[in-house]
Amino acid sequence: MSLKLKYPFSLDNQSGPAYLRVAVTGPLVAGFSLRSGGESRGAFAAANMSYSVGDDAALVAENRRNLLAKVGGGRFTKILTCKQVHGRRCRVVSGRDIEAPEQLALDEADALLTAEPGVLLGVLTADCLPLIIADKKGRAAAVVHAGWRGLAKGVAAAAVAALRHNFSLAVSELAVYAGPAIAPCCFAVGSEVIERFHKLPELNGASGWYRQSAAGFQLDLVAVQKAQLLAAGLAEADFHAVNICTCCQDLCFSYRRDHAITGRQLAFVGIS
Ligand SMILES: [Zn+2]
Repeated sequence: MSLKLKYPFSLDNQSGPAYLRVAVTGPLVAGFSLRSGGESRGAFAAANMSYSVGDDAALVAENRRNLLAKVGGGRFTKILTCKQVHGRRCRVVSGRDIEAPEQLALDEADALLTAEPGVLLGVLTADCLPLIIADKKGRAAAVVHAGWRGLAKGVAAAAVAALRHNFSLAVSELAVYAGPAIAPCCFAVGSEVIERFHKLPELNGASGWYRQSAAGFQLDLVAVQKAQLLAAGLAEADFHAVNICTCCQDLCFSYRRDHAITGRQLAFVGIS
């Protein structure tokens, strides 16, 4: 399958983990890692970035090191992730977190944000929607894990609010980039999921966020996310989606397609 990417997304598949580069401002570096170009084997082949899925930790560490070496010209010392719990808690990453040894996983959260240089913040996904939220002047950024449960709880709007409160940014100063996720072509859900989203005030009047056929309902995570962020004040021109389905395009790990035994790709952002 040929990959059609348009600005602000481009493919870097030079040696090391392949990733979709996002053109963000100035000192910011952002992207979405893909499956190819890694050292992991079997169900985790090749560029698995998660220590929590049963893969060999030494190979995951090598994949992460190779990604770090590739992005930001060696200016990032480590990747910080968190224990993702499908909630809406946002965690500010400070200098103390950055100075801590090793590439650690922080406490429970589904969004990480920072205004400090030198560290890559990441979320791990394999069908859930990863988001990067960037200050257009490059002063701060967030990375967000938004599966359907997180979306229903408003995790991205919480991350936007956290960027505003912690770093005095206006919504008009932000741009949002939605990475690869399971798309409606492959995301059949029960009617209870659709009903839950129908109750969200921010989806009032929004259309096109699910499909209905004789086979049932299919949810469009990106369309839900876009409607929620526009309701939170984001300008439509500041929402960018790569529109790659993790499940039916072979570029990414997919929890559904691979029957739960699979790796994770990393959505990352940092200030260099
Ligand atoms: Zn699909």
